[in-house]
Amino acid sequence: MASSLRTKLRITYNVLFAPGFWDAVAGRFAWVSHVVPPSHPEDIRGKGTGGTEGFQDLRGALHNHSTYSDGLSDIPTIMDAAEEAGVDFVLLADHNTMQALHDGWQERYADASPFLMVGTEVTVEGGRFLLALDVSPEYEPVIGVSAQAGIDTIRTHRGFPLISLPFDMKHPYEDWSVSGYDGLEVLNFSTIARRHINFLSLPWILIVRHFGGMMAVIRMMATRPDAALARWDLLTRGGARRVVGIGSLDAHARMKMFGKMYSIPTYADSFRACQTHVLVPDGVSGAERIPAVNAALRAGRCYFSYDCLGDPTKFDFVATNKVKGAATVMGECLSISMGETVCFTATSPGESTLLRLYRDGQPVASSVGRTLSVTLPATPGAYRIEVSRFQGRLGGLFWGVRPWIYSNPIYLS
Ligand SMILES: [Zn+2]
Repeated sequence: MASSLRTKLRITYNVLFAPGFWDAVAGRFAWVSHVVPPSHPEDIRGKGTGGTEGFQDLRGALHNHSTYSDGLSDIPTIMDAAEEAGVDFVLLADHNTMQALHDGWQERYADASPFLMVGTEVTVEGGRFLLALDVSPEYEPVIGVSAQAGIDTIRTHRGFPLISLPFDMKHPYEDWSVSGYDGLEVLNFSTIARRHINFLSLPWILIVRHFGGMMAVIRMMATRPDAALARWDLLTRGGARRVVGIGSLDAHARMKMFGKMYSIPTYADSFRACQTHVLVPDGVSGAERIPAVNAALRAGRCYFSYDCLGDPTKFDFVATNKVKGAATVMGECLSISMGETVCFTATSPGESTLLRLYRDGQPVASSVGRTLSVTLPATPGAYRIEVSRFQGRLGGLFWGVRPWIYSNPIYLS
């Protein structure tokens, strides 16, 4: 079947059957069969678990388009919007160009707050996308090559390749046999928003926007990226392979709906929607922040969140093993032996939250409040945390659930 016909069928399916609307409805409820009481009650009083000690939490607005490609605004306007939204840095990813870097924009903002980092979004075969981050300045993206060739070229230029828009409505990734990429855009807000452009969501969006404004619409759209999370869990299964997960915006400040272009959401609104929080060592400042962010992203020392639902700063997730002593933080691997146990501790900055620990995509422990602390037999796997806010609870049934924070995994091998 021709690719364009498949794309049209996919969009028609979205408009008629409104998956985004049903995501939002179903996502408001959660059933948790077993909620563990926190084993260290002192942690509930808001103490950190130690994984973020010595680090500063930098809020990143990732994957944005400027007038260097198909975005609405130039870089100074985007940086003003970032300051307005309170983010610490902006990652530019214009289509198939590093021209903003060559023109000195990254350098110009290196000591500023917020600061700017320049990467690019590369279009590969089949209209699919890769993000190329931290590439050497001589890198020039090549359009239309196979995803594998694109990844290999980014690596040749010492870059950090990520699969972008893995479940885009127009051109989702179907062939997962590609290798050599280091990360996955688990949350892409543009993909999430497009699932809401349909007959059931749109009237509701218009009502919400009229009474609550654009941020109320963005909060309404905040849904769990089920397909991308499932793929991430599959890729990292058994803890054998590290894949860094990020949350991106794909902000253009322009949205095409039913053939017409609208200047929504604004850059500032997008930046408030979802951020990737990167943990860089305390004391790092000025132009040193750029290599520090790149190093942290490569290490998976980051988490992503719907910041429109609350400030997630101080979120923490560590694993400790009595034999090894020191705490293992997000993105790291802990080598374990048969018969050992591992204690996983996560702290949420919210008062009333549901914390769930997943191993290879399967929930293994849940807790309510501020802390999840559980000791498990050491089983190899990728362990990650999801934090949700909720409005009410009756036993294991939660309602008014909102997905909030997604950690990167701690790998046990
Ligand atoms: Zn993009």
